[in-house]
Amino acid sequence: MQLIWLRSDLRQSDNTALSAAAARGPTVAVYLISAEQWLAHDDAPCKVDFWLRNLSVLSDSLEQLNIPLLIRSAPAWDQAPAALVELCQQLGIQDVHVNDEYGIHETRRDQAVACALDAQGIGFHRYLDQLLFQPGSVLTKTGGYFQVFSQFRKVCYERLHTGLPGIVAKPQAQAPLSIARDRVPESVTGFARPGQSLRALWPAGEEEARERLARFADEQIHYYKEERDLPAKPGTSQLSPYLAAGVISPRQCLHAALLSNNGEFESGSVGAATWISELIWREFYKHILVGYPRVSRHRAFRPATEFLPWRDAPQELAAWKEGRTGIPIIDAAIRQLLETGWMHNRLRMVVAMFLTKNLLIDWREGERFFMQHLIDGDLAANNGGWQWSSSTGTDSVPYFRIFNPLSQSERFDPEGRFIKHWLPELATLNKKEIHNPASAGGLFGVADYPQPIVDLKHSRERALSAFKNLPRHQLYEVCDD
Ligand SMILES: Cc1cc2nc3c(=O)[nH]c(=O)nc-3n(C[C@H](O)[C@H](O)[C@H](O)COP(=O)(O)OP(=O)(O)OC[C@H]3O[C@@H](n4cnc5c(N)ncnc54)[C@H](O)[C@@H]3O)c2cc1C
Repeated sequence: MQLIWLRSDLRQSDNTALSAAAARGPTVAVYLISAEQWLAHDDAPCKVDFWLRNLSVLSDSLEQLNIPLLIRSAPAWDQAPAALVELCQQLGIQDVHVNDEYGIHETRRDQAVACALDAQGIGFHRYLDQLLFQPGSVLTKTGGYFQVFSQFRKVCYERLHTGLPGIVAKPQAQAPLSIARDRVPESVTGFARPGQSLRALWPAGEEEARERLARFADEQIHYYKEERDLPAKPGTSQLSPYLAAGVISPRQCLHAALLSNNGEFESGSVGAATWISELIWREFYKHILVGYPRVSRHRAFRPATEFLPWRDAPQELAAWKEGRTGIPIIDAAIRQLLETGWMHNRLRMVVAMFLTKNLLIDWREGERFFMQHLIDGDLAANNGGWQWSSSTGTDSVPYFRIFNPLSQSERFDPEGRFIKHWLPELATLNKKEIHNPASAGGLFGVADYPQPIVDLKHSRERALSAFKNLPRHQLYEVCDD
């Protein structure tokens, strides 16, 4: 008997470990509920709910293949080896199959599980599935992990030209087993269920994910380059929660994009090529996580930036978290996050830069807050995005290129449509005033809307001087882990 241990791969189509298990013989699936670990990782309640909803759909579709999905508990991951060994012994499992996950806790957990299974004579098989390329296989000429995205991408393209990762065949239905599936819980203690309006934005199931992908590839991908930065438009795929939970695979995304672009990666439709490049950013940050494990430990990629004089400013941090900074684009973006579990990419950069540069608050505060609220929260992408914005990361924005949130607002939400949607209290302002109500409403600003909590010009200078005062020779040096 074979066991597929499902983690962040909640789908049956194009699932490498599932198909490999089923090809070897009768298969059972298991999922571990790990509430303590999820809390320690700051996994958002809406994300945990999304996992459970997807598991429930997956359980139904696995049932069609006569693969029962069992649910077991391992509150913290150090309990995973015992939980799995016990299950394997109960069912007479010969081999356990998993799709690789990255991050130091995941790696340690899997090593411990492999060891415990080995002691019982049970095989443990790991597969590349979450990524297009195995971390450690895309390296510089001197054998190191790339630190510059464009160089990493170039090598990825070369590889894709010579060998496109194929879609894995779906497993056939097996003969029924005399093992009943478990009921997937509707909630997990410690994670409040999100409201119906949030859930309705993110329906569960791989069919939904594939439909989103198909719609995006048919209708939007060619406009992606021009529209991806406009938060008032549905210019991006909104597939990130599905990719993060593995409800759809990066291979499926890549194939759909290539199909819409006559098989071209870098040429043809600029929109499709730009979107493929975003899939490679996803890849890049996961490789960074493996190559530079310190970023998994909440440490800056650039060690010198650990000496930045981050401010302890609890009131300003609270205003940022609650969307009451008095800068409409920031507040609207935070409200979008709190109400939908998702934030537009352009605004993730704008709010992150505002927190780390204008407020000079440690990026780790923002990274944590995002994880606690994002339905697509992913350690590698979130850490990469925060360290990019705060100029502490690999290939990050230079410290002196500080976005002005008002200019970003005028440029990317020119009519103020996004702001008005999330801040109805500003609905009466015209498209010039909406970006900066403090300047519009005379001495007292606009009723019901706060004055800006920080002076943008002065705070920009403060950030510049904080970076300038770092030991210069170290600023762009990287140490070994
Ligand atoms: C501060 C900050 C935090 C972020 N946190 C996360 C996170 O926790 N989880 C997450 O999936 N993305 C994160 N991102 C990246 C990006 O914002 C989201 O992936 C994107 O907004 C998701 O929307 P979409 O699916 O419509 O993306 P699309 O524009 O349609 O892109 C397609 C897919 O490519 C991947 N992708 C796109 N941009 C990036 C990027 N910059 N880095 C890595 N992958 C990318 C995502 O999987 C995305 O679903 C973060 C970015 C920043 C600046």
